[in-house]
Amino acid sequence: MSAIQALSQRGNPTDLYSRFSSFTAARDLMAADLYPFFLPLEGGEGPTVRRDGRTLIMCGSNNYLGLTGHPEVLAAARSALDRYGSSRTGSRFLNGNTDLHQELEAELADYLGKPAALVMSTGYQTNLGVLGTVLTPRDYVVLDRSAHASLLDGCRLSGAKVRWFPHNDPEGLRRTLERIPDEAGRLVVVDGVYSMEGDVCDLPAVVKMCSAYGARLLLDDAHGLGVLAEGRGTAAHFGLTDEVDLITVTFSKSLASLGGAVAGSEEAIHYLRHHARSLMFSASTTPTNAAAALAALRLLRARPELATAVQANAAYVRRGLAEAGVRSTPSSTPIVSLPTPGALETLTTWQRLLHDGVYVNPVLPPAAEPRLRTSYMASHTLDQLDRVVEACAAQDALLERPGNEGRSVSV
Ligand code: PMP
Repeated sequence: MSAIQALSQRGNPTDLYSRFSSFTAARDLMAADLYPFFLPLEGGEGPTVRRDGRTLIMCGSNNYLGLTGHPEVLAAARSALDRYGSSRTGSRFLNGNTDLHQELEAELADYLGKPAALVMSTGYQTNLGVLGTVLTPRDYVVLDRSAHASLLDGCRLSGAKVRWFPHNDPEGLRRTLERIPDEAGRLVVVDGVYSMEGDVCDLPAVVKMCSAYGARLLLDDAHGLGVLAEGRGTAAHFGLTDEVDLITVTFSKSLASLGGAVAGSEEAIHYLRHHARSLMFSASTTPTNAAAALAALRLLRARPELATAVQANAAYVRRGLAEAGVRSTPSSTPIVSLPTPGALETLTTWQRLLHDGVYVNPVLPPAAEPRLRTSYMASHTLDQLDRVVEACAAQDALLERPGNEGRSVSV
């Protein structure tokens, strides 16, 4: 036995690697045959996927418009692959930029109603790069309690002082802003649509607070783009695009690709282009991904009924679930969360639904209160949605009945 092995077997706190062997939670779930993560899918696309030779109805993706297999998206991706190769093998700052990345930036900025945009390699890196650049350790940043992990990570990276306000609570935001010293820089960070709850940010109230307390505003519209305001997102939905300083988006949801972007003033984007470290020191999103996102954006622009269709499908499911007595959190988007009484019920219900041919996402604390997160696509058929409702209605833990309710579903 090597000295290092001996150290880690004793769980020596000075050996950082000893945490590898003391982490048992995932192995316990595997042993109980209840491990729900990293499920390898074997194919399929959009509303159905393949696993273990079976077809499952996919209610656990962010493919809201169902464009990942659209012929125009695939043709654009194939043509970019032929023209630019499989990767640019470097940062946009040096060798990794292409005319496609720039075309995508121009069309995104125009679509989002901002003077300029900057494309990065993922939505996560976008939030990391933007927040890590805009904020300094002298500043205060105020986040909604349910803000996405990438937003918090960006704030932490910056060293800024992080403050929270209760989820979607403008009065809570006011109280938090009131406590920030007058001389400090301040930024408010919200999601347009919250990824676990599926509710929409009270942006008019947030904008009011920001202007009353002299705070800048960053809106992460990962789940609003392609869905609200016929696709243009949360700021457009409220007619507040000019009041939001920076909007970040991802391509990995409605835009059927991989990548992210920030939109804002020419000045802000120029600054971020030359300072955001996650952009400058990481390889560019592939031309294939940029082309797919651009094709999806053009489809969305030409066919706003795609956004209407996903909203109609989600409304159909919400109605069906309510009629069947299934509990769900209030939502007006394609994200519908189904609370469960506890973590064990989350896992057993997830497993039964999978067995019944319905793929959903289990959510466990500390990410959020125990629940199944379901989400819908423009391309789901009504027959598929009926089957999802029927499968959920057969799950005891999801029903509106004594013993199931009574726990908070907010996070
Ligand atoms: N912001 C939000 C609100 C998200 O939900 C996600 C991804 N789930 C991201 C950012 C990160 O996007 P990406 O997957 O492109 O890294």
